[in-house]
Amino acid sequence: AGAGGAASQETPNVTYEDIGGLDEELEQVREMIELPMRHPELFQQLGIEPPKGVLLHGPPGTGKTLMAKAVANEIDAYFTNISGPEIMSKYYGESEEQLREVFEEAEENSPAIVFIDEIDSIAPKRGETSGDVERRVVAQLLSLMDGLDERNDVVVIGATNRVDSIDPALRRGGRFDREIEIGVPDKDGRKEILQVHTRGMPLAEGIDLDQYAENTHGFVGADLESLTKESAMNALRRIRPELDLESDQIDAEVLDRLQVSESDFKD
Ligand code: ATP
Repeated sequence: AGAGGAASQETPNVTYEDIGGLDEELEQVREMIELPMRHPELFQQLGIEPPKGVLLHGPPGTGKTLMAKAVANEIDAYFTNISGPEIMSKYYGESEEQLREVFEEAEENSPAIVFIDEIDSIAPKRGETSGDVERRVVAQLLSLMDGLDERNDVVVIGATNRVDSIDPALRRGGRFDREIEIGVPDKDGRKEILQVHTRGMPLAEGIDLDQYAENTHGFVGADLESLTKESAMNALRRIRPELDLESDQIDAEVLDRLQVSESDFKD
C-alpha cells in the first residue's frame, strides 16, 4: 500500500548466511547499522550520533542489495527498496512526492531500512548532468534525511557503482557520511559464494569448488550465481533424454542420479 510504484516493500528473507565472502564489509555494516538500531543507548551514552545514511559502493552484482536485505532481516526491519532511475523516470514530475511517501511509510513502520539502488541517478554531481528536477529531488532527499529523528529507527542505505559521481552534499555529515566499499571477490570470496549457491544442490562426489574459484577470476557474485544455476541446468539436460514428460512421476532412480557433476560446470 501507500507509496507503491517505484518502491517495493517486503520483509526480506536473506540472511548473513546467504552472503559469501565480504566478512569485513559485513562487520562494518553490522557496526554502522545493526548495532545502533538495536542499541541506540550505546551511542547516546557515548554522545555520538549513529549514521542516518550509509553508502555501499562497488561494481554491479557484488552483493550490495543482498547486504542491505540481510541487515534488515536480521533486525526485523521494514525494508523499502527504491530504484534511483525508476524514481527519476517513471514518476517524472512526482519524484519528490514519491520520496516523501517512501520516508513517511518507513517511519510509520519503523524500525525500517530505506534502500536506494543506483542513488547516483537521483543525485548526480550538481552541474554535471543535473537539471532542475535532479536539484529538486536531491534537495528533497536531503531534507527528508535531515528530518529523520534522533531515535535512529530509520536508516537509509544507498548503493552505487559510481561513488565519485554523487552530489557531494549527500556525503556530508549527518547524511551518507559512512561509506563501505563492496569489491570484486578474490579467490576465497568466490569459493564462499560458490558454496552459498551450491548449498542446496546435489553435487557429485569429487567436485572441487576450490578449482572453480580458481578459474573464475573477475567473476562477481551475480556471475557465480549464474554459473551454478547453469551447471544445474546442464545436469538436467543430461538426463533429459531419459525423462518421460507425459508420465506423472519421475522415476526415483533417475531422480537419484540427477546430480551436478564436473562436466556440468565446464561449459
Ligand atoms: P547492482 O549494483 O547491480 O544492484 P548489487 O551489488 O546490489 O548489484 P546484488 O543484487 O546484491 O548485487 O547481487 C545480485 C545477485 O548475485 C544476488 O541476488 C546473489 O544471488 C548474487 N550475489 C552477489 N553477491 C553475492 C555474494 N557476495 N554472496 C552470494 N551471492 C551473491
